[in-house]
Amino acid sequence: MNNFLIVGAGFSGSVIAEQLAKNPNNQITILEERNHIGGNCYTERDSKTNIMLHVYGPHIFNTDNIEVWNYIQQFTELKPYTNRVKSVYKDNIYSLPINLHTINQFFGKTLNPEEAKEFIAGLGDQSINDPQNFEEQALRFIGNDLYKAFFYGYTKKQWGCEPKELPASILKRLPVRFNYNDNYYSTSFQGIPINGFTEIFEKMLNSPNIKVKLNTKFIPTDYQISTYDHVFYTGPLDAFFNFKYGRLSYRTVYFEKNYAKGDYQGNAVINYADESIPYTRIHEHKHFTPWEIHDETIYFKEYSKETEITDTPYYPKRLKEDLKKLELYQTEVQKLNNITFLGRLATYRYMDMHHVIAEALDIVKNFTI
Ligand code: UDP
Repeated sequence: MNNFLIVGAGFSGSVIAEQLAKNPNNQITILEERNHIGGNCYTERDSKTNIMLHVYGPHIFNTDNIEVWNYIQQFTELKPYTNRVKSVYKDNIYSLPINLHTINQFFGKTLNPEEAKEFIAGLGDQSINDPQNFEEQALRFIGNDLYKAFFYGYTKKQWGCEPKELPASILKRLPVRFNYNDNYYSTSFQGIPINGFTEIFEKMLNSPNIKVKLNTKFIPTDYQISTYDHVFYTGPLDAFFNFKYGRLSYRTVYFEKNYAKGDYQGNAVINYADESIPYTRIHEHKHFTPWEIHDETIYFKEYSKETEITDTPYYPKRLKEDLKKLELYQTEVQKLNNITFLGRLATYRYMDMHHVIAEALDIVKNFTI
């Protein structure tokens, strides 16, 4: 019998467990400090309206990776879904990601794709050759006006710092399109699980070889890592080392929940780009399941703040001082045997669900035989 310990029942831990459990000689224990599985992907139906709620904020599954796309569909039916996001700025409503409609509306023009390309290139700051941060990336490719309207205020609210302190990679997540395609994602496959995300985790972990212990916090000193065949740790990296080099900074989000009749905003997600509006976006969750009929609705105003020790970490900030601490923690990780750190929290990276799944599937290949 091989004994494995997994810390965390989000996608990283659950994929590892599901794959290991295929071997009847593997015994897997998962420790999960929350009272549910699924990490931040957890969904549940609202007790009053029966609307499926994305409890930790909107999750739309999307990927270019066919292996990951096929893998997840073993555990759910994914209903085709296209995420279309709007942005409110100075009492106007625009289409995101920035596309031809946004450009024409914002500048009061009727440009065609080639004209728009030329126009936007003319707005970009050509003196920035190699953008070093979020702001430079924006100024280089879309110019000051679009940057200030759609990114500056929103990003300041979401990340709690000046965009020039953030890496350019955050902005690179969003495309700028010179056509009318308003699909928020550029990935080939996109869908929402018909019965929510939690069912996926329930199915993944439904094996006699897997024991999930909820409400169980992992305290490294309480466990003899060497007594397991291997340990997979998906919790926060700094917490594992008892914050000996200080805390890695994360942003967290919190929500104000509201009930209403009918349809509140006519779309799943609307962003609020003005700095003067305290929330970043409003999500109305029944629009994530357009195949269901609900007379009532629930919408959430989303706010961001710095993570306190008791908050759920969401977005790794990766500021300069964080990267220095990260290096020190990584050196400590190298010294350990018998344990793998994986996932968004344990590697302190901004990863989407599909990245996490792909990486876990790759890592576990070394252990299933
Ligand atoms: N962003 C923005 N305005 C928007 C949407 C996004 O400034 O209306 C910025 C923001 O800094 C965000 C980044 O673009 O962190 C990436 O956006 P994405 O939607 O990928 O973030 P996530 O889905 O992870 O919240």
